[in-house]
Formats: sequence, C-alpha cells, structure tokens
Amino acid sequence: MYKPKILVVEDDPAITNLIRTTLDTQEYQYHTAKNGASAIIEVVSYNPDVIILDLGLPDMDGVEIIRKVRGWSNIPIIVVSARSEDQDKVDALDTGADDCLTKPFSIDEFLARLRVALRRSRTEKTNSVEETALYHNGELCIDYAAGCAYMAKKEIHLTPIEYKLLCVLAKNTGKVLTHNYILKEVWGVAIVTDIPSLRVFMATLRKKIERNPSAPKYIQTHIGVGYRMIRQ
Ligand code: CA
Repeated sequence: MYKPKILVVEDDPAITNLIRTTLDTQEYQYHTAKNGASAIIEVVSYNPDVIILDLGLPDMDGVEIIRKVRGWSNIPIIVVSARSEDQDKVDALDTGADDCLTKPFSIDEFLARLRVALRRSRTEKTNSVEETALYHNGELCIDYAAGCAYMAKKEIHLTPIEYKLLCVLAKNTGKVLTHNYILKEVWGVAIVTDIPSLRVFMATLRKKIERNPSAPKYIQTHIGVGYRMIRQ
C-alpha cells in the first residue's frame, strides 16, 4: 500500500517530535527539514504529497518558501504558525498556502487537516496524470511521477538540481527561457542569482543527455538570453 509522503518543515524540536510521533501512528512516511534552504532541497528531491510548514524559520520566512515552491509545484501546503497575527496567515494563503494551523493545535485537528490536504493532492494527481505523467521528446523521456529521466530507454542519473532544470526546460519545450526565469524556477532568486552557476549546471546536464555536448541537439543556447528545449 502506498504511504503518503509528508515533508515537515519546523525548527522547534518539541513540535517536530510531536508531529513525528503522530505521523508514525498513522503510517505516513515523512522527512523533516529544520530550515528553509533544506526545505527547498527536500521539496525537489523527496517530492512530498503534502508540506507542513512552520512560518517562523531561522533562515527564511515561510512565505518566501511558499513563493518558491509555487513557482513549479501545486503540492498542498499546510502552514503552522505560532503567531497570532492574522496578517501572516493571510500573506501565506495569498502566496498559495492551502490551509493554516495555529500553535498550539490538537492532534485530531492536525490529522483532519492533513487528510483534507492529501485528498486534494490525490485529486490533482489523478486529474493531471494524462497530460503530465510522461514527457517524450525524441529519445528523451521524463517520468514525472517517478522523478526519473531516460535517454534511449536508459535511465539518466541526475542530481535533484539537474532534474529540476531538465523539467523546467521540458515543460516549456519550444520556448526560449531567460536566465532569470530559469534561476527563479529552479532555485528561487535568493539562493542562486548568478548566471555562471547556471552555465555550470547546464554543462553537466548536457553531458548527461546530449550525444555530442559541444553540438547540443536538445538544449539550445541563446547567447545573452537563455536556453530552449528543442522539440525533436
Ligand atoms: Ca519556528
């Protein structure tokens, strides 16, 4: 049986332990992250079904995380806030959070909200499966549900960043994407804002997917502008 995957983003160990214990009794799978930077990495690599997000994190505002995640994903996000100010919750919801819980919360309430979010997650996946489950372009194939990419039926071993980069290009096949657009979609502007880093990642991605990386067939460079995935 499939166990739903929950990402818990929380810097308070007591709350994290409470949530872990609760999730264990329900047989959910989960990963935890203590700050915003590791939360973003987990969202990309773990690909959770629901994110539980504390708004007050040491390195990044929770709203900032929602903004980044919403750049590429509709994963349901439940915000957990110690703050009583309504404005924080409004900001979080405006930015794309699905639901809010105020600390302290009861376990029953927490689980009820989680079930609602998981239902939404499943509905989204079912509705979008036909158009987005698989991407085919020449010999390149991306299985979005499995988070894997293949070239000529052989799996390509990509890092989470390379995979995300490939997905952003694939989802916009035929469109020229600017450096800034790609940086924002893959890292969020605040984490990596420099084009040289993007070039390095693009070079390693090309080595993995192009037969001849110096004469790329799939990813075209537009000097001074950005990149484009070519439809084969
Ligand atoms: Ca906190």
